[in-house]
Amino acid sequence: MKQWEISVIPGDGIGKEVMPEAIKVLDVLADIHGGLNFTYKEYPWSCEYYLEHGVMMPKDELKQLEQSDAVFLGAVGNPKLVADHVSLWGLLVNIRREFEQVINVRPAKQMKGIVSPLANPREFDFTVVRENSEGEYSEIGGRIHSGEDEMAIQNAVFTRKGITRAMDYAFELAKTRKGHVTSATKSNGIVHSMPFWDEVFQDVSRKYDNIETQSIHIDALSAFFVSKPHTFDVIVASNLFGDILTDIGASIMGSIGIAPAANINLNGKFPSMFEPVHGSAPDIVGKGIANPIGQIWTGKMMLDHFGEQELGTLLLDTIEEVLQDGIKTPDIGGTASTIEVTEHIINKLKARS
Ligand code: ATP
Ligand code: MG
Repeated sequence: MKQWEISVIPGDGIGKEVMPEAIKVLDVLADIHGGLNFTYKEYPWSCEYYLEHGVMMPKDELKQLEQSDAVFLGAVGNPKLVADHVSLWGLLVNIRREFEQVINVRPAKQMKGIVSPLANPREFDFTVVRENSEGEYSEIGGRIHSGEDEMAIQNAVFTRKGITRAMDYAFELAKTRKGHVTSATKSNGIVHSMPFWDEVFQDVSRKYDNIETQSIHIDALSAFFVSKPHTFDVIVASNLFGDILTDIGASIMGSIGIAPAANINLNGKFPSMFEPVHGSAPDIVGKGIANPIGQIWTGKMMLDHFGEQELGTLLLDTIEEVLQDGIKTPDIGGTASTIEVTEHIINKLKARS
């Protein structure tokens, strides 16, 4: 029996609504597999926890998480209770950094049964590999002067090591897919870091003979995500560019409520963390209409990470069938509830096995 221990952090808002649904689905998949067992340890870290304890999570608790095979996270943030930068940095960014989750992987794929906002999209299926540890999201900088002369300076940090490992990950992934890597750059406008990024891309690409490459400026690339998303396979991007591209990816899929993501630790010292792209969605909390597919698909990425690709494929195919049956939450044009969508996925999984 294969045993996987999962640290579960439902977090805030709809995180608490979609997490139990994803766990139900994982348990059904474990039953179908027969030789697989998941155990869960749940942590209450959230903005409510912050109000009570003054921290998003106790620092020493990372030690406990460290023992598990993966962290499964819902959503963090409740701006009415805690400022977003405090909640996000206190929990999400803290775990990403402490556990050296240096790569953020976000697939986007046209799902059968969902109407894309693009008028006539050709079928697209790409994955953005986002550098997750450095780049534009640095804490280096500050403010000087005041009044009319006031200025803010924000430094971006790019290291050869950081860029290389993100690019290696992208090329390795492309080997298992369509064999094509696109690099997101902006070396015509950002004159130090982006030419360096391009240079490392050249260096890394030399190691991979059979992979086709292209380099596209981020502005044009953003436009191409809308005008010809079917032409992409794997895209490697810096922290900021990757963040923006993956929101476009989620939106052309039809809803941010279905988009999955993984924060990957490469050195095996710490667990990786799986969290959907969407946030806590305060506007729909408590209505029972949050789309659970983002969290469930994120569970599929965790299964892939555990080496259970077959189960993951079964799950994604089943989700598509349920969507084609019209069982959808309002964000993708349906009338079903969170729980109804999950029930249909589970029933179909059981029927197929
Ligand atoms: P964060 O800062 O945590 O990313 P946000 O407010 O920027 O939060 P989301 O919480 O992702 O972004 O919400 C953006 C919009 O998408 C909201 O209108 C929300 O209701 C909707 N949304 C997000 N996730 C879902 C979901 N799972 N199902 C349905 N709608 C969703
Ligand atoms: Mg957001």
